[in-house]
Amino acid sequence: MSKYTESVPGFRKLITGTVLLPGEKGYDENRAIWNGMFDKKPAMIARCLNAEDVSQAVLFAREHQLQIAVKGGGHNSAGNAVCDDGMVIDLSLMQSVEVDSQRQTAKVDGGCLLGAVDEATQKHGLAVSAGIVSHTGVGGLTLGGGFGWISRKYGLTIDNLLSVDMVTADGSMIHASATENEDLFWAARGGGGNFGIVTTFEFQAADIGTELYTGPVVKRFEDAGEYLRFYRDYVLKMPDEMTIWTVLRQAPPLPFIPEEYHGKMVVLVPFVWLGDPEEGEKLIQPIRDFGETIGDGSGVKPWTAWQAAFDGLVEHGARNYWKSHHMKSLSDECIDVITSYAAKLPHDESEVFIPHMEGAPSRVDPVSTAFPHRNTPFLLNLHTRWRETSDDERCMKWARDFHDATRPFSQGVYVNFLSEEGSDRVREAYTEEVWDRLVKAKKRWDPENVFQMNQNIPPE
Ligand SMILES: Cc1cc2nc3c(=O)[nH]c(=O)nc-3n(C[C@H](O)[C@H](O)[C@H](O)COP(=O)(O)OP(=O)(O)OC[C@H]3O[C@@H](n4cnc5c(N)ncnc54)[C@H](O)[C@@H]3O)c2cc1C
Repeated sequence: MSKYTESVPGFRKLITGTVLLPGEKGYDENRAIWNGMFDKKPAMIARCLNAEDVSQAVLFAREHQLQIAVKGGGHNSAGNAVCDDGMVIDLSLMQSVEVDSQRQTAKVDGGCLLGAVDEATQKHGLAVSAGIVSHTGVGGLTLGGGFGWISRKYGLTIDNLLSVDMVTADGSMIHASATENEDLFWAARGGGGNFGIVTTFEFQAADIGTELYTGPVVKRFEDAGEYLRFYRDYVLKMPDEMTIWTVLRQAPPLPFIPEEYHGKMVVLVPFVWLGDPEEGEKLIQPIRDFGETIGDGSGVKPWTAWQAAFDGLVEHGARNYWKSHHMKSLSDECIDVITSYAAKLPHDESEVFIPHMEGAPSRVDPVSTAFPHRNTPFLLNLHTRWRETSDDERCMKWARDFHDATRPFSQGVYVNFLSEEGSDRVREAYTEEVWDRLVKAKKRWDPENVFQMNQNIPPE
């Protein structure tokens, strides 16, 4: 019997959570992640319940030279939440959210999903600025930056992060904030899971109320080129309270879209307005009036319902290959490239997503966190999604070609939307100055690169 095999029963007793080995009940469901492209088989899954468990798991993995993968929400399209042969430190049982309604803050466990945070904060009319799909993990999203419907007004998720409790590579449990372990706190705001495992995030929440005026409006795909030209200019005039995005995809069978358009390419215009609905309506009217509107789902909705409105379009298990850029601008030439590739979407679940980004995040000093690309007005996301392995090559080629063709209009990439794209591309998520500082922090906090199942920042 190997030393590792002999040590497993002791480790099972040591942690309050559970340990799963290959073949044991629950092993397969807990090694599965959102992106169905990955089918990795770890030697062990440590389902931790608290920071002490996480610390013991790190020490055990290091003692037995097991590669560590950290699973937050398991959503990352690059598949880094699992590894072959090593240990998955699974945080998904760590789900507590504590809201302090007086201070308007929330303490969120490292394994929480966004839906749990919205549910807890909304009891007080509060929300943490974060992503748009409720089954995304807070862990990965926050450590890479985090943006969503209210970030133009309230900043990125990291701009609202007050502190973290973290287990570092030597198993220590430490606190980091603007006044304690500052270099670690800086690196954790954009540098991903490179520096340790966050067991608790403390966020500033915003008082947004429980109901908001939201979209979407639906336009004809035939007018996409003209609409995008209008969109790029119009949204730049919007106050931070209004966030309007564009999605090019096949129309889902929603009641407010006429049946004849279901399954046909359309321009979906989701929006969120933080304010008096009548004021928001006035700002949305020009969107409706531009060209033809074929569907309109706008109205005042509960925030938690809106935050789950896109969940069904991106359920777990499909094959995914996502590519992304921050866009310097949407020039006419760029729009022509976008519409020509969108017209050839490789699968009915794929989509082209164009969020409007600038606002409060752009007014934050680009080196005050490890998220430097704050001044690009748009993001271009190619959500390539399909079901059959036989479609892999065709779908991935579409994404790669589209991505290459739009590269001249781009500047950098959001680290959370990287696929497995190689170390040079990881550097493009950062400026040189930020990269050098991240490497310095990595050398200090994880000199042996224990945490490398991520968009890796090597210590040298
Ligand atoms: C459908 C979908 C919608 C999305 N929408 C948005 C959006 O609106 N806004 C946005 O900003 N991003 C969005 N993203 C991107 C998202 O931010 C990343 O996929 C993110 O990595 C997801 O985090 P996770 O915890 O679910 O992922 P995981 O796959 O579990 O983890 C991702 C990485 O982070 C590490 N990690 C996770 N938790 C921790 C932790 N507690 N401590 C240390 N390391 C950790 C993992 O080791 C891994 O390297 C979306 C992604 C998908 C697939």
